[in-house]
Order: sequence, then structure tokens, then C-alpha cells
Amino acid sequence: MKYCPACGQPVEMRVPAGDNRPRAVCVACAAIHYENPRIVVGCVPEWQGRILLCQRAILPRRGFWTTPAGFFELGETLQDAAARESLEEAQVRVAIGSLLAVTHVLHAAQVHMTFRARMLDEHFGVGAETLQVGLYEEREIPWDRIAFPSIDFALRCYFEDRRAARESLHFNTVERPLDRSET
Ligand SMILES: [Zn+2]
Repeated sequence: MKYCPACGQPVEMRVPAGDNRPRAVCVACAAIHYENPRIVVGCVPEWQGRILLCQRAILPRRGFWTTPAGFFELGETLQDAAARESLEEAQVRVAIGSLLAVTHVLHAAQVHMTFRARMLDEHFGVGAETLQVGLYEEREIPWDRIAFPSIDFALRCYFEDRRAARESLHFNTVERPLDRSET
């Protein structure tokens, strides 16, 4: 942040009184602009043992594969967001299940939260941000073409738990990007 969203004047980084870390403080109106991590929500939709994957039509990681996920919006629950992203990206209706994985993506200041999900019917389609969508067996997953470490982590946990007939919650931390194309 370079300019104050409230008044348009420059901000400077300094530690406000009573705080313990630098914040963007407006030189004109003294507003303090706190920046916090953003939440990305998604799910792993399953239909009769197969997993729904989307090939990304947009940057970052265009052409790579992901499960439906996107930024959490105001006024919705995490489950609402996961279901909405599934509809937007893959035209798929899901029942959201248990929380599968939480990945702290430190370099991007994001928290990625992924749920298990069951597709309500076999219908799916291509959304605006997607090149193609399909249902895949575990052995068909393109592991070397998965878009993000958080999705790779969630998928590996998903199959591991499914084999063990359990639904655990898994945590992971990613400190740096895979490569330049991710950011
Ligand atoms: Zn200002």
C-alpha cells in the first residue's frame, strides 16, 4: 500500500502507539491501515470415487490443475464459499463435508482452507476461469501439473484419509513460491 484508501495521500510504515509492528499510517489523516492474510476457500468434490479437477484458464498457473477454490467473500460462511466456487468454476453442485486441510501460504499472506465435498449429481461444466473440467480416479491425477502446493497437499491428504476410512484435519505451511509463474 502506497496511498491512503481513505484520503489518497501517501502512507508511511511505522509502529503506531500501543502497537508492536509497523503499519501503513497515512501522513495526512493518520488513518492506520491494517493488512491481514486473506482466506482462500475450496473443496475436493467427489462423485462415485472420482475427484473433480479444473484446468485453470487464468493466471497464476494457467494450464495447471486445481480443485475449485477462490477468495472468501463478505457475508458468507466458509462452506457457502466452497460451494459457490464449485458452481462458478465447474458448474457443479456440492454438499460440503468436513474440513480437510488448512495451508498457511506465508509468502502470499493467504490461508487456504479446503473441505471435502460430495457432488449432488454428475453434472459439471466449464466456468469462466476454467479451460476444462473432469472427474478423475486417484491414479489419473496429474501430480506434476497441480497448480498450487496447498491443492497438492489437500489432495494427498484426501486420498490418504480415504484409504484409511477417516476424515482428519491436516495443517501445512508454505513459506515461498514454487517458482515465478505462481505469483
Ligand atoms: Zn489518509
